[in-house]
Amino acid sequence: MKTTDRRFTAAFLIVAIGAGVSFAATEWAVHDMNRPTPPVIQPGDSSFASVPSDAIVLFDGSDLSKWTGKDGRARWEVSQGAAKANKTGSIQTRQAFGDCQLHIEFRTPDDPKTLKKKSQGRGNSGVFFMGKYELQVLDSYHNRTYADGQAAAVYGQYPPLVNASLPPGHWQAYDVVFRRPHFDSSGQVVTPAIITAFHNGVLVQDHVELTGATVHKKRAKYTPHADALPLMLQDHGDPVRFRNIWIRPLE
Ligand code: MG
Repeated sequence: MKTTDRRFTAAFLIVAIGAGVSFAATEWAVHDMNRPTPPVIQPGDSSFASVPSDAIVLFDGSDLSKWTGKDGRARWEVSQGAAKANKTGSIQTRQAFGDCQLHIEFRTPDDPKTLKKKSQGRGNSGVFFMGKYELQVLDSYHNRTYADGQAAAVYGQYPPLVNASLPPGHWQAYDVVFRRPHFDSSGQVVTPAIITAFHNGVLVQDHVELTGATVHKKRAKYTPHADALPLMLQDHGDPVRFRNIWIRPLE
Protein backbone atom coordinates (compact mmCIF):
# COMPACT_ATOMS: atom_id res chain seq x y z
CA MET A 1 0.00 0.00 0.00
CA LYS A 2 1.32 3.45 -0.86
CA THR A 3 1.84 5.92 1.98
CA THR A 4 -1.00 8.14 0.77
CA ASP A 5 -3.32 5.11 0.65
CA ARG A 6 -2.32 4.17 4.17
CA ARG A 7 -2.97 7.69 5.34
CA PHE A 8 -6.34 7.63 3.65
CA THR A 9 -7.17 4.28 5.24
CA ALA A 10 -6.10 5.52 8.67
CA ALA A 11 -8.11 8.72 8.26
CA PHE A 12 -11.09 6.74 7.05
CA LEU A 13 -10.87 4.37 9.99
CA ILE A 14 -10.70 7.25 12.47
CA VAL A 15 -13.74 8.90 10.86
CA ALA A 16 -15.59 5.58 10.65
CA ILE A 17 -14.84 4.68 14.25
CA GLY A 18 -15.61 8.21 15.41
CA ALA A 19 -18.98 8.09 13.68
CA GLY A 20 -19.77 4.70 15.15
CA VAL A 21 -20.24 3.48 18.68
CA SER A 22 -16.67 3.30 19.91
CA PHE A 23 -13.51 5.41 19.90
CA ALA A 24 -10.12 3.77 19.60
CA ALA A 25 -8.07 4.88 22.63
CA THR A 26 -5.01 2.76 22.25
CA GLU A 27 -3.30 -0.08 20.48
CA TRP A 28 -2.59 -1.87 23.76
CA ALA A 29 -4.78 -4.82 24.66
CA VAL A 30 -7.13 -4.07 27.56
CA HIS A 31 -5.37 -4.84 30.88
CA ASP A 32 -2.11 -5.61 29.04
CA MET A 33 0.60 -6.36 31.65
CA ASN A 34 3.21 -5.27 29.06
CA ARG A 35 1.78 -1.76 28.85
CA PRO A 36 4.36 0.47 30.54
CA THR A 37 3.33 1.65 33.99
CA PRO A 38 3.53 5.38 34.72
CA PRO A 39 6.48 6.89 36.59
CA VAL A 40 6.12 6.89 40.36
CA ILE A 41 6.25 10.33 41.97
CA GLN A 42 5.87 11.70 45.48
CA PRO A 43 2.88 14.08 45.62
CA GLY A 44 2.91 17.18 47.79
CA ASP A 45 1.02 17.41 51.04
CA SER A 46 -2.64 16.69 50.32
CA SER A 47 -4.23 18.61 53.11
CA PHE A 48 -7.94 18.40 53.85
CA ALA A 49 -9.80 20.40 51.20
CA SER A 50 -12.47 22.78 52.46
CA VAL A 51 -15.79 22.93 50.68
CA PRO A 52 -16.64 25.72 48.18
CA SER A 53 -19.85 27.60 49.00
CA ASP A 54 -21.70 26.45 45.86
CA ALA A 55 -20.87 22.75 46.22
CA ILE A 56 -23.34 20.02 47.09
CA VAL A 57 -21.92 18.11 50.02
CA LEU A 58 -22.52 14.42 49.37
CA PHE A 59 -20.83 13.18 52.53
CA ASP A 60 -19.55 15.29 55.42
CA GLY A 61 -18.59 12.42 57.68
CA SER A 62 -21.85 12.16 59.60
CA ASP A 63 -24.28 10.03 57.57
CA LEU A 64 -25.07 8.57 54.16
CA SER A 65 -28.50 10.19 53.79
CA LYS A 66 -27.58 11.48 50.31
CA TRP A 67 -26.82 7.91 49.21
CA THR A 68 -28.70 4.76 48.47
CA GLY A 69 -27.82 1.15 47.81
CA LYS A 70 -29.34 -2.26 47.51
CA ASP A 71 -32.88 -2.31 49.02
CA GLY A 72 -32.96 1.49 48.84
CA ARG A 73 -30.45 2.09 51.61
CA ALA A 74 -26.69 2.68 51.76
CA ARG A 75 -25.40 0.26 54.38
CA TRP A 76 -21.73 1.15 54.46
CA GLU A 77 -20.29 1.63 57.93
CA VAL A 78 -19.94 5.26 59.00
CA SER A 79 -17.46 5.90 61.77
CA GLN A 80 -14.79 8.45 62.65
CA GLY A 81 -15.95 10.75 59.87
CA ALA A 82 -15.59 8.19 57.11
CA ALA A 83 -17.80 5.77 55.18
CA LYS A 84 -16.34 2.31 54.68
CA ALA A 85 -17.21 -0.29 52.04
CA ASN A 86 -18.30 -3.41 53.94
CA LYS A 87 -19.46 -5.93 51.34
CA THR A 88 -23.04 -4.62 51.38
CA GLY A 89 -22.82 -3.54 47.77
CA SER A 90 -21.95 -0.40 45.85
CA ILE A 91 -23.67 2.82 46.85
CA GLN A 92 -24.94 5.65 44.70
CA THR A 93 -26.14 9.20 45.16
CA ARG A 94 -29.88 9.85 45.37
CA GLN A 95 -29.34 12.85 43.10
CA ALA A 96 -28.36 12.43 39.43
CA PHE A 97 -25.47 14.34 37.87
CA GLY A 98 -24.08 14.97 34.40
CA ASP A 99 -21.18 17.39 33.93
CA CYS A 100 -19.56 18.04 37.28
CA GLN A 101 -16.53 18.82 39.40
CA LEU A 102 -15.99 16.24 42.13
CA HIS A 103 -13.76 16.19 45.19
CA ILE A 104 -13.45 12.90 47.04
CA GLU A 105 -10.99 11.57 49.61
CA PHE A 106 -10.22 7.90 50.11
CA ARG A 107 -8.04 5.70 52.26
CA THR A 108 -7.07 2.19 51.25
CA PRO A 109 -6.74 -0.36 54.09
CA ASP A 110 -3.40 -1.05 55.77
CA ASP A 111 -4.30 -4.10 57.83
CA PRO A 112 -1.96 -7.11 57.45
CA LYS A 113 -4.60 -9.24 55.76
CA THR A 114 -5.14 -6.67 53.01
CA LEU A 115 -1.43 -6.01 52.56
CA LYS A 116 -0.86 -9.67 51.75
CA LYS A 117 -3.08 -9.27 48.73
CA LYS A 118 -1.78 -8.18 45.36
CA SER A 119 -2.69 -6.34 42.20
CA GLN A 120 -6.44 -5.71 41.89
CA GLY A 121 -7.07 -7.43 45.24
CA ARG A 122 -5.56 -4.65 47.33
CA GLY A 123 -7.80 -1.74 48.29
CA ASN A 124 -10.02 -1.91 45.24
CA SER A 125 -12.95 0.46 44.89
CA GLY A 126 -13.90 3.02 42.28
CA VAL A 127 -15.65 6.26 41.54
CA PHE A 128 -18.21 5.68 38.80
CA PHE A 129 -19.41 8.85 37.11
CA MET A 130 -23.02 8.40 35.99
CA GLY A 131 -22.69 4.92 37.50
CA LYS A 132 -20.84 3.91 34.34
CA TYR A 133 -17.44 5.52 33.92
CA GLU A 134 -14.88 4.41 36.51
CA LEU A 135 -11.94 6.32 37.88
CA GLN A 136 -10.18 3.47 39.65
CA VAL A 137 -9.49 3.47 43.38
CA LEU A 138 -6.76 1.03 44.36
CA ASP A 139 -3.72 0.76 46.60
CA SER A 140 -1.09 1.42 43.94
CA TYR A 141 1.75 2.05 46.39
CA HIS A 142 4.32 -0.62 45.54
CA ASN A 143 1.55 -2.80 44.16
CA ARG A 144 1.99 -3.75 40.53
CA THR A 145 -1.09 -4.30 38.43
CA TYR A 146 -1.99 -3.64 34.83
CA ALA A 147 -1.40 0.03 33.98
CA ASP A 148 -4.96 0.72 32.90
CA GLY A 149 -6.27 -0.63 36.21
CA GLN A 150 -4.08 1.10 38.78
CA ALA A 151 -5.18 3.97 41.02
CA ALA A 152 -6.38 7.01 39.05
CA ALA A 153 -6.69 5.02 35.82
CA VAL A 154 -9.80 5.38 33.74
CA TYR A 155 -10.35 1.68 34.21
CA GLY A 156 -9.49 -0.40 31.16
CA GLN A 157 -8.70 2.68 29.08
CA TYR A 158 -6.17 5.21 30.35
CA PRO A 159 -3.36 4.69 32.88
CA PRO A 160 -2.70 7.82 34.96
CA LEU A 161 0.06 10.09 33.67
CA VAL A 162 2.02 9.43 36.87
CA ASN A 163 1.57 7.27 39.94
CA ALA A 164 0.94 9.82 42.71
CA SER A 165 -0.22 7.22 45.25
CA LEU A 166 0.42 7.56 48.97
CA PRO A 167 0.97 4.51 51.19
CA PRO A 168 -2.08 2.53 52.36
CA GLY A 169 -3.66 4.02 55.50
CA HIS A 170 -3.07 7.60 54.28
CA TRP A 171 -5.88 9.83 53.13
CA GLN A 172 -5.67 10.66 49.43
CA ALA A 173 -7.75 12.90 47.18
CA TYR A 174 -9.18 12.93 43.69
CA ASP A 175 -10.31 16.16 42.10
CA VAL A 176 -12.09 15.51 38.85
CA VAL A 177 -13.82 17.36 36.06
CA PHE A 178 -16.23 15.04 34.29
CA ARG A 179 -18.01 15.88 31.06
CA ARG A 180 -20.83 13.58 30.12
CA PRO A 181 -21.16 11.99 26.66
CA HIS A 182 -23.70 13.36 24.23
CA PHE A 183 -25.78 11.16 21.94
CA ASP A 184 -27.84 12.08 18.92
CA SER A 185 -31.46 11.06 18.49
CA SER A 186 -30.42 7.75 16.90
CA GLY A 187 -28.20 6.92 19.90
CA GLN A 188 -24.87 7.57 18.19
CA VAL A 189 -22.12 9.28 20.20
CA VAL A 190 -21.72 12.91 19.21
CA THR A 191 -19.13 13.76 21.87
CA PRO A 192 -17.58 11.21 24.22
CA ALA A 193 -17.33 11.48 28.00
CA ILE A 194 -14.22 13.44 29.03
CA ILE A 195 -12.28 13.22 32.27
CA THR A 196 -9.64 15.51 33.73
CA ALA A 197 -8.36 14.31 37.09
CA PHE A 198 -5.87 15.25 39.81
CA HIS A 199 -4.60 12.68 42.30
CA ASN A 200 -3.28 14.26 45.47
CA GLY A 201 -3.07 17.53 43.56
CA VAL A 202 -1.14 16.09 40.61
CA LEU A 203 -2.56 15.94 37.08
CA VAL A 204 -3.17 12.28 36.21
CA GLN A 205 -5.83 12.42 33.46
CA ASP A 206 -5.58 15.30 31.01
CA HIS A 207 -8.92 15.74 29.24
CA VAL A 208 -9.07 12.11 28.07
CA GLU A 209 -11.91 11.03 25.81
CA LEU A 210 -13.52 7.87 27.12
CA THR A 211 -14.14 5.06 24.68
CA GLY A 212 -17.30 3.87 26.44
CA ALA A 213 -18.69 2.66 29.74
CA THR A 214 -16.34 0.72 32.05
CA VAL A 215 -16.12 -3.01 31.51
CA HIS A 216 -13.65 -5.63 32.69
CA LYS A 217 -11.23 -7.09 30.13
CA LYS A 218 -13.22 -5.91 27.14
CA ARG A 219 -13.12 -2.92 24.84
CA ALA A 220 -15.50 -0.31 26.15
CA LYS A 221 -18.40 0.88 24.06
CA TYR A 222 -21.18 3.37 24.46
CA THR A 223 -24.82 2.66 25.04
CA PRO A 224 -27.04 5.75 25.02
CA HIS A 225 -28.27 6.91 28.43
CA ALA A 226 -29.83 9.82 30.29
CA ASP A 227 -28.14 13.23 30.62
CA ALA A 228 -27.88 12.84 34.40
CA LEU A 229 -27.36 9.69 36.46
CA PRO A 230 -26.22 8.95 40.03
CA LEU A 231 -22.57 8.92 41.05
CA MET A 232 -21.58 5.48 42.31
CA LEU A 233 -18.90 4.25 44.72
CA GLN A 234 -17.86 0.66 44.18
CA ASP A 235 -17.92 -2.02 46.84
CA HIS A 236 -15.29 -4.40 45.49
CA GLY A 237 -15.14 -6.31 48.78
CA ASP A 238 -12.22 -4.32 50.22
CA PRO A 239 -12.71 -2.03 53.26
CA VAL A 240 -11.84 1.24 51.50
CA ARG A 241 -12.89 4.40 53.35
CA PHE A 242 -14.18 7.68 51.89
CA ARG A 243 -14.68 11.14 53.35
CA ASN A 244 -15.18 14.80 52.38
CA ILE A 245 -17.15 14.21 49.19
CA TRP A 246 -18.54 17.24 47.40
CA ILE A 247 -19.70 17.96 43.89
CA ARG A 248 -20.39 21.02 41.75
CA PRO A 249 -22.76 20.39 38.84
CA LEU A 250 -21.46 22.19 35.76
CA GLU A 251 -24.62 22.28 33.68
MG1 MG B 1 -12.46 -0.65 40.98
